[in-house]
Amino acid sequence: MPSVVETHRTYKYRLYHNVKANAHLHDTINVAGIVWNHITALRKRYYRRYRKHLGSNQLQKHVAYLRMKTQRFAYWRKVGSQAVQDICQRHDKAYKRFFKKEGGLPRFKKVKNYTSFTLKQSDWELGEDTHQRGGVKHPKHTGYVQIQGRWYKFVKHRPMNGDVKTVTVKRDAAGQMWVCFSVMENMTREDEISTGKSGGFDFGLKTFLTTDEGQHIESPQFFKQDLPRLRAIQSAVSQKAAGSTNRAKGKKHLARRHIRIADQRRDFHFKLANELCKQYDTLVFEDLNMAAMKRLWGRKVSDLGFAEFVKIVKWVAFKQGKRVSLIDRWERTTQQCSGCGHRQKMELKDRTFGCQRCGLALDRDHNAARNILEAGHRLILSQSVEVPASRRASGVHGRSPRL
Ligand SMILES: [Zn+2]
Repeated sequence: MPSVVETHRTYKYRLYHNVKANAHLHDTINVAGIVWNHITALRKRYYRRYRKHLGSNQLQKHVAYLRMKTQRFAYWRKVGSQAVQDICQRHDKAYKRFFKKEGGLPRFKKVKNYTSFTLKQSDWELGEDTHQRGGVKHPKHTGYVQIQGRWYKFVKHRPMNGDVKTVTVKRDAAGQMWVCFSVMENMTREDEISTGKSGGFDFGLKTFLTTDEGQHIESPQFFKQDLPRLRAIQSAVSQKAAGSTNRAKGKKHLARRHIRIADQRRDFHFKLANELCKQYDTLVFEDLNMAAMKRLWGRKVSDLGFAEFVKIVKWVAFKQGKRVSLIDRWERTTQQCSGCGHRQKMELKDRTFGCQRCGLALDRDHNAARNILEAGHRLILSQSVEVPASRRASGVHGRSPRL
């Protein structure tokens, strides 16, 4: 029977282009950026003076005081109290990550590069999907949302379900506005359509994925194809005078190009993830250490977007009742014979694994994929012993990949 699970999910819609109306949103985001920078400076100053970190309660009180009681910061009221609270909380999170050595100190940001503000329970309202306004019937796929007292239209390319928890207004590098609804949704999970198959997959530079059966899945290298064009735009932009309108236009053009490539890549990832989840019950990948891979392989790694793909395949598998296992990145998948377990040195340039003990000869990535599957099986066996079934069943929560 299909089961119903509570899922955290984000729906992202494009706002209609409207210079006048969207100007208010741009302004709010700019002010949000100023607030962020002000908090950053405040915390720095506080630390210099008292050698202590400013706690979040004190910070929020102080910011509220500045907003409501001073003339100088009265314009901060443009960002609603909840949005300001959200900025404080995000700043706090960044600080805590820093203390756990998971990230750097929160930094100053250029206001024009600041991207969003978030509203929680109030300051927004969803409108009916289709309504008649001034005798004009709007297209079917138009959604309406009221943000801080003004109505905005968005392209509702898919229906939205669930309880809206937060509303985030975002602008991308090309200046396009988006509205993101973060919802808790009771999602019906498909019953596992058991194919009885598990697969191991090796990420590679030459081929995106190699399966444990030796099938190669090529990666479309959007970025590489687009690189000459990107370079041309880039050099055209750099020839324009700094701070000029033409330069700003060129930068936007470049940003649009990058966004398009990223969209194509996501599309490819989703299609592939759906395809694989149809074929396999359990999918095993390596947990990748992106920083180390970048050092080893350079730009191309981020171009291929392995980490994004893993997030997407986890989400798709969750929806379809399939399982994704990530094995430890330090398992020696390339240097071990998948037939007899013999270990031998492999150079990066060696494309074939030729076992010196049992004589097995396999494509390098194929051999690695077989080892990954094997390690995945071991992992699943050990987990099913350690984790009680009841806990596993209740611990299922999905989260859609960030958009
Ligand atoms: Zn061997």
